[in-house]
Amino acid sequence: MSIYEELGLQPIINAAGTYTVLGGSRMSEATLAAMCEAARDFIPIRELQKAVNAAIAKLTRNPGAYVPNGAATGLYLAVAAAIEIRRKKPFKYVTRDEIARSHVVLYKAHRNPYDLVVQNLGASYRELGFGNLMHPVTVEDLDNAIDDDTAAVYFAATGWVAPGGLPLEETIAVARRRGVPVIVDAAAQLPPVENLWKYTEMGAATTLFSGGKDLKGPQASGLMVGDREFHEIVASIGFPNYGIGRMMKVGREEMVGLYMAVKQFVEMDHDARYQWREDQIAILSEALREHPALTVTRTYPNEAGQPIARAFVGLKDAGRNAAELVEHLRRNHPPIHAYSEELPGVFINPMSLRDGEIDCIVECLRRFS
Ligand SMILES: *Cc1c(COP(=O)(O)O)cnc(C)c1O
Repeated sequence: MSIYEELGLQPIINAAGTYTVLGGSRMSEATLAAMCEAARDFIPIRELQKAVNAAIAKLTRNPGAYVPNGAATGLYLAVAAAIEIRRKKPFKYVTRDEIARSHVVLYKAHRNPYDLVVQNLGASYRELGFGNLMHPVTVEDLDNAIDDDTAAVYFAATGWVAPGGLPLEETIAVARRRGVPVIVDAAAQLPPVENLWKYTEMGAATTLFSGGKDLKGPQASGLMVGDREFHEIVASIGFPNYGIGRMMKVGREEMVGLYMAVKQFVEMDHDARYQWREDQIAILSEALREHPALTVTRTYPNEAGQPIARAFVGLKDAGRNAAELVEHLRRNHPPIHAYSEELPGVFINPMSLRDGEIDCIVECLRRFS
């Protein structure tokens, strides 16, 4: 009996993608083995952390790195580090009032549910623009928004941002001229693998990645890469230090797991992975070509802007509700999870599938009428 069966649960086929609520991603056997190995022996955590951060920095061609327990925690710690720099004293001596007077500048178009962590820290946002193209933000707008209480500039590098903000190059140029660190949230921007160093080369102080997305690391892990000094400050605030870092525990298993995942990710044959994903879409399109109620269309890139194709399985009858199709997949054994994104159909995302699962999806969709 599997552990999920023992708990009365049934594992699903994840045709949605690397969604945290579905478990993030699937680790490789090599990563799982490394985590088991790490769990068997004690190790001084600070020594492990130093070694892992240095090894990951090297693998990703960055001067500095830190492993938090997720990209959202990375944002929290990055803003804390930026406040330390702005207030010119270790974060533990920064008063609540000094935090409350600190803000992070960002484009309204980049606001998202993950960014709420900044308010939890006690800092605020200074939003620029309107999240549309009525009045796009100018270089002067950004320059004038930065003052003595600006701790950092936040930039969401993702496919779903609304128009209206400046491009990253211009954002970094202005922020650097004003001596303010730029935090790039690229949580889901892998692949391509070059993104692990691209933003640092562009001048970002830190870039945040999720460990549990395409990196295929532990679900409760993240990755921060960039400037060496900035990440030393992050390490001095984050786990295992007392203070805010203490509640953001990262186990030795996660640290080792993320290291293994990064190592494999930089060495991986990304073209072969790309081709496998295309093949899954081709199998689905071919199998459902004559379906009476459904059509299959390849879409690219995906919702996060990753260079990964998906299949959109659309309802021929535009009057039908996509919820019917979502439910049909959900009632399958094993249940298939896929999202409609408010469109008349569902997206089948190959990035979280493994060999053979597409056949199960085909079987299930054939039964839909
Ligand atoms: C997924 C995501 C996050 C959160 O990542 P975690 O590792 O789950 O904390 C933050 N920002 C963006 C843009 C994301 O896509």
